[in-house]
Amino acid sequence: MTAIGIDFGTTNSVVATWDSTGPEALSIDTPSGEWSTLGFDRVMPSVFARAADGAVQFGWEAKRADVGRFEAVKRLFATQQSTVSDDEGGAFAVEEVATMLFAEMKAAAARQGVDATQAVVTVPANSRGVARHRTKICAGMGGFEVLTLINEPTAAAMTYAARHPGDQQILVFDWGGGTLDVTILRSVGGIFMEQASKGLPTKGGLDFDSRLRKLVLETVSDRSSWTPADRHRFDLDIELAKIKLSDQEFTVIQLPGGDSRRITRAMFEDSVESLIEEARRPIEQCLRDIGAGPGAIDSVVMVGGTSKVPVVRRFVGELLDRDPEVGVDPMTAVGEGAAIAAAILTGRLETNDFFVSTEHALGTVAVNPETAKREFSELIPRNHKLPASKTDTYVPVHAEQESVAIKVIEGDPEVDVDHPENVVLKEWVIELPGAGTSETGAFDMTYEYAVDGILRVKVTDVATGRLMLEDDVSYGVTQDRRKLVDIADRARRAVDGGSTESASAVPSDPEAAKLLQRAHVKVIPFLDGEEADAIRAAAAELESAGPDELPAAKESVRNLLSPYSYLF
Ligand code: ADP
Ligand code: MG
Repeated sequence: MTAIGIDFGTTNSVVATWDSTGPEALSIDTPSGEWSTLGFDRVMPSVFARAADGAVQFGWEAKRADVGRFEAVKRLFATQQSTVSDDEGGAFAVEEVATMLFAEMKAAAARQGVDATQAVVTVPANSRGVARHRTKICAGMGGFEVLTLINEPTAAAMTYAARHPGDQQILVFDWGGGTLDVTILRSVGGIFMEQASKGLPTKGGLDFDSRLRKLVLETVSDRSSWTPADRHRFDLDIELAKIKLSDQEFTVIQLPGGDSRRITRAMFEDSVESLIEEARRPIEQCLRDIGAGPGAIDSVVMVGGTSKVPVVRRFVGELLDRDPEVGVDPMTAVGEGAAIAAAILTGRLETNDFFVSTEHALGTVAVNPETAKREFSELIPRNHKLPASKTDTYVPVHAEQESVAIKVIEGDPEVDVDHPENVVLKEWVIELPGAGTSETGAFDMTYEYAVDGILRVKVTDVATGRLMLEDDVSYGVTQDRRKLVDIADRARRAVDGGSTESASAVPSDPEAAKLLQRAHVKVIPFLDGEEADAIRAAAAELESAGPDELPAAKESVRNLLSPYSYLF
């Protein structure tokens, strides 16, 4: 029984353990050939694939599969979308694919001799309530008791602080496959507080791939003979070439059909210059938000695979006028930080250098007697050391009320209670003993956020001390429970048995499903502003199109996507 750290990434996932020598990322998957020597030996691509015969594949094997790949599901956590499709129009519930990936990580850890039952899982700094809870639910269904969720930059800062403790201001620059997140954290008395966080939600390593692909394709006159398998292999070669150029001055890319192209680092750097320049904005915005210049930053911690590109490191170093820290592995730092947090929460790592704290406030939905409005009444604030405990007294709105609804809410008390940032984790209705009498019906509500990741809620009658409610809130299941149980069952059977039946969500029109997938996963995330809005609107119309409107709706999405064919 071990508590581990999990970085569930859009592109790659990491599982890390902790022992007295420190955190260590496990080899949960085996990259093939050249990839293994390029820093990928301790990550598992967050990819699931279903072969024609139903066999399930994960990680590298899935990433290499020519068809049936389901990628970047994490990106869909933050959207309304409930299904993920492959390029052929096959579809699965987002939760099912994510659950299988978590279950596979658990199985892979077990193959390394680690019986992982509890986990600290990381989520993006700016991830909304619903995305956080979808993560927690899927990790839970995948077989982990989630001790807590911590933010990715906090985890990276913990990995750094394990070796460089003390009060300090850290800038975490996390550039992964799909997004850039810049966060300034202040560590005070061992607690990390996010001071500012800005990012480029639609720019990442995939855009570097696109630039390089464009550069190469400009020299290819005819691609008509390329099969989908050729295209996929070419895409992988492009990514590999980009990665090699972080260490080498030039590389050779094989084209389907036998030709090849020689690309130098200078050519690549030239093609991505304007992309890198875009990283300036979030860094400057963060500094502006804290009202300071680069001099206020004590350390620059660069994580995420794209931070390994030399010209990116140089750019950040020059902008902040200091060398980024070395000795933090950009690929595994977030997972390692989660492992440190897991060790602290399970009492194996006793340190006063830093603590795990709540990243979001916990409270209850209550009516403010002065405004008569529903509010987020905070019990445990953000940035509170874990474990945490708090009791507050509440009074029913009406003296004659016979019952009251208790709702546990997590999120941000500063925004409207119904804002998507806030999620109701669980609710109960309790009978009030003092209804209709002169008693006020006041009750005490206690929240205990224990280190086992479970929030215990107790409600007692103030007048009599009678216990009115005692219950646990664990995975915060707000969705249809039965559906989730089915998903969890299917996902576990798939990972244990090595195959899965037909897709869980069968699209009525495979071509529409394919277009929607392309729009939501391959194109919209890489566009800004009006172009993205236009495609989003057309996709929404396609989603709700009746049989008569379908052909026109498909045509419209197809036309809007065609200028971006280099993205899919
Ligand atoms: P995520 O947080 O999205 O899961 P990662 O931090 O694992 O992603 O980063 C993945 C991205 O980093 C991919 O686009 C990958 O090609 C890129 N990457 C990984 N290693 C290197 C490298 N050495 N040089 C350039 N890019 C790299
Ligand atoms: Mg990441």
